[in-house]
Amino acid sequence: MSDTTLETSAKATEKTTYAVESNGRLYYPVIGLEIHAELKTASKMFCPCRNDPDEEKPNVNVCAICMGHPGTLPVLNKQAIKHMVRIGTAIGGTVADFTEWDRKNYFYPDIPKAYQISQFAHPLITGGSLRGVGLTRIHLEEDTASSSHDKGDYSLVNFNRSGVPLMELVTEPVIRDAKTAGEFAKELQLLLRYLGAGEANMEKGEMRVEVNISVSTNPKAHEYIEDALRENKPVAKEAFSTFGIKTEVKNINSFRSAERSIEFELERHIKAIEAVLAEGISPTDTAAWKAALATKKLVQETRGFDESTGKTFSQRAKENSHDYMYFPDPDIPKLFISEIPEFGAHEIAAGMPALPWQVRDRFVNTFEMKAEDAEMFVQNSGFRNFFELVADALREKELIKLATNYVTSDLAGLIKKYGIGNESGVATATSTTIAIPVQNFADIIFMIKAGELSSRGAKDLLAMLFFAYYDIALPDTEEYKKDSASPLSRIPRDEILQKSTKEIAEAKGLVQKNDPEALNKMIAELVSAHPSVVADYKAGKEAALMFFVGQIMKASKGSVNPAAAKDAVIAYVQAL
Ligand SMILES: [Zn+2]
Repeated sequence: MSDTTLETSAKATEKTTYAVESNGRLYYPVIGLEIHAELKTASKMFCPCRNDPDEEKPNVNVCAICMGHPGTLPVLNKQAIKHMVRIGTAIGGTVADFTEWDRKNYFYPDIPKAYQISQFAHPLITGGSLRGVGLTRIHLEEDTASSSHDKGDYSLVNFNRSGVPLMELVTEPVIRDAKTAGEFAKELQLLLRYLGAGEANMEKGEMRVEVNISVSTNPKAHEYIEDALRENKPVAKEAFSTFGIKTEVKNINSFRSAERSIEFELERHIKAIEAVLAEGISPTDTAAWKAALATKKLVQETRGFDESTGKTFSQRAKENSHDYMYFPDPDIPKLFISEIPEFGAHEIAAGMPALPWQVRDRFVNTFEMKAEDAEMFVQNSGFRNFFELVADALREKELIKLATNYVTSDLAGLIKKYGIGNESGVATATSTTIAIPVQNFADIIFMIKAGELSSRGAKDLLAMLFFAYYDIALPDTEEYKKDSASPLSRIPRDEILQKSTKEIAEAKGLVQKNDPEALNKMIAELVSAHPSVVADYKAGKEAALMFFVGQIMKASKGSVNPAAAKDAVIAYVQAL
């Protein structure tokens, strides 16, 4: 075989979207993800112990089964299997009819049986895709205990986590950049939350992302991936011989870290490959190529990620899968999904909630939202549920669009500013509801439409409702306490909680008045007091009348709609 695979052929150059260029040469990243996520169930995978990730006291949710005592019999958790069937259905995968559990044999202090119950040959789910990334499989297993080695010259093991249901998802190696990997992981977290299958908080270890990275110099690698994506099928077996040396990064605690570790590894791989190419060694000379890469510290291995430095570091040489000596667990009965009526495709589909991508699509298409506005609702169940109810109350598309702005900018702004919800300042996909009653909010929108509220008045009214319903003391700032006449200066909370939005607006003088008689009386007084203004207008200075509008707004403390005032002034003066 000649060295032509290294040349950046015209064909390769046409498809450079996902290739990384370095010193005039193209490199083809190949990335796959392995994601573990704890499932939310009342009890553990094979025993009646509580599954409580928030339990802080060590070794309280334990029994003979999850401590690995001999002679015990594991019993399958139905809820965990149901979560899996729903996840598999949501991602369009194939739910296996026949499934079984295997023993994955290895010794470690956090694995008391010296094997983990997992699935090897018959995973529950195969295929499917999420955010355009094909999935190889999703299987169900038990989590290990957790150990800590940082207390002294000894280690501590906590068995609360031992036996918690854990899903392991493996993607096809079809990801080529850090951003796509991050988006995939975020979408999976969202899916698990929408399905109520898990919280998937990465910082709590409820979801753990591992990335597999290799870099190829062979454009064929890129073509194999394109083929798989286009035809929505697994990457061809032959493709793997075109991929580079694979490294796996573990110990990733956030989406950002997942992306940073990929960026770091891609650069590390490319630098090592460049150095070996500079020595005149060809990738087709496999043995020499691997040996030379090893001298540049690029070997197949597991690496950790250090958040403080943004670098990965070598942990251990990768075991091959046969090291685990998998064999079917003789203590656990084989499972035929079709024998369980409630796991039937029809039953599962009927109980399925709206999924993140369906919600995204509806908010963009039905409510005609900008993508970034829609995303706020997709990500935040509090906002999403609130908005759905507001939209039901408003009904008309025009009003719903108006409401979008008041939720995404004004209400979201207040919620963020005053730290409502979780630590990031906004409700998450599973957290807080909006405290302001839907009808009160909808009434603000109806009043704007009826010309009864100015946009300033609407913002003030919303702020009033916000402080009252969240029971937040009015901030001691100019904006809210500039003068005693300001509608926001003094708001008895009880009064707001008892009254309708319209009553509050009226009580605070925020309602724009549409009283033509009173308005005309005011105009008549202004005209007789300022004849020169009328003369200026008649002489062609159209802007002169804005003086009258300003005076009306001042005298009415903004309760007259400026547009209505302007129309009335023009009509009055023209009739003179
Ligand atoms: Zn137990």
